[in-house]
Amino acid sequence: MTNWQDRATALYNGGFRPMFIGGQWCEARSGAVIEARNPADGSLLATVPKGEAADIDAAVVAARAAFEGPWSKFTPFERQALLLRIADKFEEEWETLCLSDTLDMGMPIQRTLANSRRVLGMLRFYAGQAVAIHGETIPNSFPGEIYSQTVREPVGVVGAIIPWNAPIAGSIWKIAPALATGCTVILKPSEEASLTVLLIAKIMQEAGLPDGVLNIVTGHGADAGAALAAHPGVDKIVFTGSTATGQAIARAATGNLKRVSLELGGKSPVIVCRDADIDKAVPVAAMAVFANSGQICIAGSRLFVAREIHDEFLRRVADYAANLRIGHGVEEGTDIGPIISARQAERIAGYLAAGPQEGAEVLTGGARAEGAGLDGGHFFQPTVFGGVTDEMTIAREEIFGPVISALPFDTIDEVVERANATPYGLAAGVFSTHLGTAHKLAHRLKAGSVWVNMYHAIDPAVPFGGVKMSGYGREGGTEHMEEYLDTKAIWINAD
Ligand code: NAD
Repeated sequence: MTNWQDRATALYNGGFRPMFIGGQWCEARSGAVIEARNPADGSLLATVPKGEAADIDAAVVAARAAFEGPWSKFTPFERQALLLRIADKFEEEWETLCLSDTLDMGMPIQRTLANSRRVLGMLRFYAGQAVAIHGETIPNSFPGEIYSQTVREPVGVVGAIIPWNAPIAGSIWKIAPALATGCTVILKPSEEASLTVLLIAKIMQEAGLPDGVLNIVTGHGADAGAALAAHPGVDKIVFTGSTATGQAIARAATGNLKRVSLELGGKSPVIVCRDADIDKAVPVAAMAVFANSGQICIAGSRLFVAREIHDEFLRRVADYAANLRIGHGVEEGTDIGPIISARQAERIAGYLAAGPQEGAEVLTGGARAEGAGLDGGHFFQPTVFGGVTDEMTIAREEIFGPVISALPFDTIDEVVERANATPYGLAAGVFSTHLGTAHKLAHRLKAGSVWVNMYHAIDPAVPFGGVKMSGYGREGGTEHMEEYLDTKAIWINAD
């Protein structure tokens, strides 16, 4: 069995990890640093540069030079070959990447390791897309011999800003389509989890990535992130994070009217109908929230259960939750790792208090997890609230922690209306063995993804994204390529 703890010590020992601009590994212009601490025990893993506006300026210069320079000469086949080499190197380094994520942001190692199909799949999927970009020849109605056609061109310098909850997949989802289309990237990881993204840049450099094509500026959202979003030299922002930050980014982007795509928060409904296969639905509905300790944008945190099966179903979900193992992500067998930071832990504790204050019943959990081995981290018991009503704070706001709010329902029309009565529209789950009910719900729920008799499925070939205040734009699938391409119309008068 792998001893992850020994490998952890060898990987991070408190030293300085530089950021990556124009192919050079560097400090921040100011020399300031941010501490990267392990959320499971508070230990110092490393320090990283505290990049600010001046560092973003340098990264934009490097990204622009690469975009207009050697990178623009890469053929589609060459971009494809680069992505495939990166995928192979990722496969070789997969355990190290996963360990880094587990140490830096707490996700259990089993879960990070299990993400290989998706992440390696993304790199290889976009490698395929690199050689499939094409415009159209379109007949027009002008007299004479006048031809019109379109070509697809890379949008240019892309600013990518990601949250802390899935650094490997989150960064590859931004970088891989950029490499496929011929864009260049400045990526600002979360100040809470920058280390794996720096490893990713190193692997890509070793795989032959030209200087300036990918730049990583570590730093805080309020300075490095805001500077990137507002920068006149950036052509497009791709952002994943909270809805409030997405709104700030959309406002900042108006200065040069840069294109923006936003993957934001959610309060996703999971609907368990009276004809659901309960044995199958219980673990999936539970892990729709408890995976990654609830720190997932698509968490199915409003659990609507048909009144006929409500009590039995909730008892079984609560039993399932109570048996999940809480611990450090590097311990094999851990189901529930730590929460990323004291700030997030305070937020979650606030919701755990608000639930009972507003009349919800704690069916299991309801408090921080304490005990041997949990000192120094922020751990929570997986929590199921019953007796929740639609108006309660825990039924309306994104908690981003291991908390299910369960609500009974009586009819399909009623549950559709209640499930859609949220500003968000990221995802939804349906459990039903009745074909008609499943289809009806899948079509009537307002969400970017609806999963029937399953949850959490995300595949490189299938588009993912939100509607309403969960954002706009799609990642995954051929639609994702559109986000990184402009269309130019070319007219030719052949007379
Ligand atoms: P956040 O919005 O606080 O931060 C996300 C990123 O934005 C970080 O890198 C941060 O430094 C940066 N940032 C903060 N303020 C900024 C500003 N003014 N300008 C530019 N950048 C700024 O989100 P978080 O707390 O790190 O992550 C949790 C949120 O992300 C949740 O709401 C969750 O639902 C959402 N999320 C969404 C998806 C999705 O695909 N829809 C995926 C994961 C997380």
